[in-house]
Amino acid sequence: MNISINAAFDGGNIRLVAQDGDRLDLEIVRDHLSEFYQWFSFRVAGARGRALQLRIVNAGGSSYPAGWAGYQVRASTDRRDWRMIPTRYAEGVLEFDWSGDSDLAWFAYFAPYTMAMHDDLVARIAARPAVTHRELGLSLDGQPIDCLSIGSGPKPVWLYGRQHPGESMTEWWMDGALDWLVSPAAGGLLAKATVHVVPNMNPDGTRRGHLRTNAAGANLNREWAAPSLERSPEVLCVRDAMDATGVAFAMDIHGDEVIPANFFAGFEGVPSFSPARGALFTAFSQRLAAHTPDFQTTRGYGTTPAGKANLTISTNQVAERYGAVAMTLEMPFRDHEANPDPVFGWSANRSRALGAACLEVLAAMIDEVS
Ligand SMILES: [Zn+2]
Repeated sequence: MNISINAAFDGGNIRLVAQDGDRLDLEIVRDHLSEFYQWFSFRVAGARGRALQLRIVNAGGSSYPAGWAGYQVRASTDRRDWRMIPTRYAEGVLEFDWSGDSDLAWFAYFAPYTMAMHDDLVARIAARPAVTHRELGLSLDGQPIDCLSIGSGPKPVWLYGRQHPGESMTEWWMDGALDWLVSPAAGGLLAKATVHVVPNMNPDGTRRGHLRTNAAGANLNREWAAPSLERSPEVLCVRDAMDATGVAFAMDIHGDEVIPANFFAGFEGVPSFSPARGALFTAFSQRLAAHTPDFQTTRGYGTTPAGKANLTISTNQVAERYGAVAMTLEMPFRDHEANPDPVFGWSANRSRALGAACLEVLAAMIDEVS
C-alpha cells in the first residue's frame, strides 16, 4: 500500500518534499504572508507494517530553532491520546521513526485543539445557566470571536488566549478554566468578579495551521497599541469590549517553544507601574507556585526595565490602559522540567489542570484585586 501524507484538515500543516522507500522528507509550511513557521500537524495513511523514518528537513530555519533540542514529537492513533515519541534534532533536521501496527497515525507539535473542538467548547459552556455568550466581532476570514462571560461581581476579569494559534496548549488551558468557572467551586469568585473569557483570539490562524499570525500575516500580540479593522480586527473587537467593562485582572495565555517550564511575564516596564500593583502580581505568581508543582518562578524571560514596556503587547497595553494586574502565561512545548512526565510531557490534561489551578488562586486573592 502507498504511504500518504495529508494535512488538508482543520489546523493541519506539513508538505511532503521527497520520499525514498520508507523515508519521508517533510517541510513545515510558512504562515500565510509571513516568515513564521514551527507548528505542524499531519496524518500518515498506509503506515501499517512499515518502518517509517520521518524527517522535517526545514526545522533549522523555523522561527525558534532553539526549541527543537530536547523536544519530542507528539503522536496519536486515536486523536485523543497524544504521546511523546523519541525525536532527534541534528543539522537542522527534526527526525523521528514510526513503526506502529495501525493503518493511520497522526503527528503534531503539540496535542491539537482544532476549530471544531473550539466550537464544541463554546457550545458546551454557553449552554450552561448564568453564562452569557457574545460574538465580539469577526476575523478576516469571517469567523466569530467568541466571548463567554460568567459571574455577577463588580471586578472585571479578562482571560484571553491563542493570539498565537500554533500554541494549542492555550486552548486546552481555556477548556479547563471554563469547566472550573461553571463548577460549584467558582461561586465565591463569581460573587465578586465577572469573568470574560475569549478562548481563541485567532481562529483564522488556528484553522489555517499557522504558528503565530492571522490571515493577513499579523502577529496579533504586536497589534494592541493600534489595532485596525484591515489588519487585526480580532484585537480591535476584544480591546473595544475591554474598554466597555474596564479590566482589573487579566491573563493572556501562550506557549513558549524554547523554555521547558511554565512561567509568567508581567508588566513591570509600563509607565504607570506601581509597587503595589507589582506586589499583587508577585504574590499571585508565588501563590500559584505554592499551589501546584506545575508552576515555578525562577525560569522565564526576566523583567523589563522601568518605562521600557512594548505597548503593542497585550499584557503591557492592558496593564497601562486599564490599570490592571496583567500577565502573560507561557506553557512549554517540551515539558515542565520541575515536574516532568516521561510519557506525555507537557500535555493537554496538564494544561487543563493549570487553567483550574490559576483560577483557584485568583479566587483566594480576589479581595486584594481592585
Ligand atoms: Zn505566544
